[in-house]
Amino acid sequence: MPTETSHRPGDPISDPLSSPLAETLDVAAGVDLHMHSRASDGKLTPTELVDLCHVRGIRHMALTDHDTLDGVAEASERARSLGLKLLPAAELSCQWRGQGIHIVAMLPAGVSEGFTAGLGVLANARKARSREIAHRLEKIGLEDGLARARHEAGSERPLGRPDFAAALVTAGLVPDMPTAFKRYLGAGKRGDVKMHWPELATVVGWIRDSGGVAVIAHPLRYGMTRRKRDLLFTAFIEAGGEAAELVSGYQNPNATFDFARQLHFHGLYGSLGSDFHYPGGALAPGTISPPPRSHVVPVWRHPALADFATGGSAPSVTL
Ligand code: AMP
Ligand code: MN
Ligand code: MN
Ligand code: MN
Repeated sequence: MPTETSHRPGDPISDPLSSPLAETLDVAAGVDLHMHSRASDGKLTPTELVDLCHVRGIRHMALTDHDTLDGVAEASERARSLGLKLLPAAELSCQWRGQGIHIVAMLPAGVSEGFTAGLGVLANARKARSREIAHRLEKIGLEDGLARARHEAGSERPLGRPDFAAALVTAGLVPDMPTAFKRYLGAGKRGDVKMHWPELATVVGWIRDSGGVAVIAHPLRYGMTRRKRDLLFTAFIEAGGEAAELVSGYQNPNATFDFARQLHFHGLYGSLGSDFHYPGGALAPGTISPPPRSHVVPVWRHPALADFATGGSAPSVTL
């Protein structure tokens, strides 16, 4: 019989069913650890997002804008006044084996100088990438793509692929945003430019330097085989990564059961997040299909997140 009562992320657990970690995630109510605001490609201000979470009964939230912490101060202030727990966070862009990967940086202890410098690297990468995307989209008939994307963004925030997708729609080159991604901007298409992003291990290093927790965002959305995900998780853990999203907003619930086994096998903590961007779409804050019973340990049990998990009401989720 195993006698240990705790494990370290990355330690493989050979027999999940006899694991002393057996705990089950029964209900995800009140937790959403992946959402966007206007500081990146979301449509609500940080204040509006926190208000929406509040009315929807979210008690523990993370704002995870792409490559920026610009919305966190405003969101924190609002969350404090409403009694919600808000985890400072960001969704960082990187690449692994030439593929674009997103890593949620959970930052309960603030950020290191290295992390701040890293955000500068990402801001520059995003600018260089935007120029390259505009250049590539010229070939399919989008002129002045950079100016058009800036116009769609409607503010000075860093540009993203959704701004180019909107520009393609406005220019009449595609009927709608999903088609823009399917034809030109989605994974592997001409406007999916990854070469400017730092390597996965570099980004995880910034998070670790800050005393934070690195979480692989929407692991089932990279079009990888299970075997390829094993390799990704191995590289991620070697770099110091400790968690992955067990359930993400658009995830097929039928896939989650086996995915939970894979997470548990790698000893990764599990996170939950909708990837909410704007009202009126398929998702709202907290829209996450219920996770299956599994042995995955919730990320808020990570020692670094103890403060976040307690205070107010602890997350009403058992993993
Ligand atoms: P970027 O961070 O600039 O690479 O843009 C990535 C963002 O584009 C994602 O966070 C989503 O908000 C959006 N996105 C990615 N794929 C799609 C898709 N197939 N349809 C609509 N939006 C997408
Ligand atoms: Mn986005
Ligand atoms: Mn993402
Ligand atoms: Mn996201």
